[in-house]
Amino acid sequence: MEKIRKMFGDSLVDEWGEQLLCPVCSDYYTHIEKVEHYPDHDDYYCKNIPSIDWEGRGEAVVLHFYCESNHKWAIRFGFHKGNIYVKKIIEK
Ligand SMILES: [Zn+2]
Repeated sequence: MEKIRKMFGDSLVDEWGEQLLCPVCSDYYTHIEKVEHYPDHDDYYCKNIPSIDWEGRGEAVVLHFYCESNHKWAIRFGFHKGNIYVKKIIEK
């Protein structure tokens, strides 16, 4: 969790948990746009999808967000040979 916190900077904590802030402007009015899942691949299939920036061997899950100042970003989880890698992708 500490590494994820480093990816997104300080966040606000309340009784619901930690608020995800926009990594561009730190706005706390953020929204979930969509979730993409590219399952059951163990063949570098995701290399063919440049927008998710995953060149590992296995599957990927991408969570897309936007803030009310129109910044878009994603958090990508990629599986590769027994490990899961997490990366922040600024989209706009
Ligand atoms: Zn923003």
